[in-house]
Amino acid sequence: MRYKIALIRGGGIGPEQSEATLTVISKVEEILGLDLEIIEAEAGDRCLAERGKPLPEDTVEILRESHACLKGPVGETAADVIVKIRQLFDLYANVRPAKSLPGAPALRPDVDLVVVRENTEGLYKGYEYEVDDAAIGLRVITKRGSERIARYAFELALKRKRKVIAVHKANVMRLTCGLFAKTCREISKEYPEVSFSEMYVDAAAMNLIRSPQDFDVIVTTNMFGDILSDEAAQVVGGLGLAPSGNIGEGFAVFEPVHGCAPDIAGKNIANPVSMILSASMMFEWLGSKNGDEKSLTASRLLAEAVEEALRRGISTPDLGGSESTTSFGGKVAEILAEISEKT
Ligand code: ATP
Repeated sequence: MRYKIALIRGGGIGPEQSEATLTVISKVEEILGLDLEIIEAEAGDRCLAERGKPLPEDTVEILRESHACLKGPVGETAADVIVKIRQLFDLYANVRPAKSLPGAPALRPDVDLVVVRENTEGLYKGYEYEVDDAAIGLRVITKRGSERIARYAFELALKRKRKVIAVHKANVMRLTCGLFAKTCREISKEYPEVSFSEMYVDAAAMNLIRSPQDFDVIVTTNMFGDILSDEAAQVVGGLGLAPSGNIGEGFAVFEPVHGCAPDIAGKNIANPVSMILSASMMFEWLGSKNGDEKSLTASRLLAEAVEEALRRGISTPDLGGSESTTSFGGKVAEILAEISEKT
């Protein structure tokens, strides 16, 4: 199967992370004989400065013609880029795994959870108004939006530890969180083999620190998911390790959870793991969607090579290591070749 992959390198540390990720992707492509066409597309702060638009039409066209997109962080224009792309392509599920990796400063070594965040509605809909000297924001929760994100979470749990926790605050936001919670409860009946429970968001924030190993799949609304997934990323060792997918019915965009980290941009010290693992998620999504074993193997090899590199103490300065972004990418590619020979 030939895949067209749109690549948005983005701004800040995005181009450096992209380069290191491409090194690893080229290696897996060569080893497995994957057929990839990588098409570069522009978006973000630099694109705004140079072309007057953060997300030009030709970029949207490239995305329309691609099977998936791999994207680096873009900077201040994130709302005009990724939020817009989510809306344009109805990428309703924001999937953010947090897994303890060897050599990373995780709170515990046994955390393996995924935050499944509703990505299109809630408080991030952007419906805000000013009335006299008050500012008002509307929170939109729909039955359809809640149903499809709940179903996504249960399907994912079937492939994991079969445990879904719906996180909300229905005791206070009785109608909006109430509808979300009720819908999750209804969908849970379709999945008797998956254990289902509910947790208020404040308790979830606490339990993510106290006992993160007890979580498997967290399903929640847009803003709660945004916040809890950053917390979960820190629980397993920091933003530099955190990948994500924005997933719709026919298209998906994979990107690091973090922003463009201008403080370390251009120094070749950014950790590319968040983007390499985003690429791993992309191959997993493509492989599952198309029944393509090669793509699933690519996903597994990328994740295993990153894990093995960290196990050997190979890491960038954010994890206390001395590798540059470039040399880390090169070493992960070498390890990937090594692992693939053994399997
Ligand atoms: P945004 O609001 O756009 O999400 P932010 O203010 O949350 O951005 P980030 O850019 O996400 O900030 O990063 C916060 C800090 O974490 C950075 O300043 C940087 O020091 C560190 N950081 C983020 N990503 C990485 C990475 N891949 N490698 C190393 N350090 C990172």
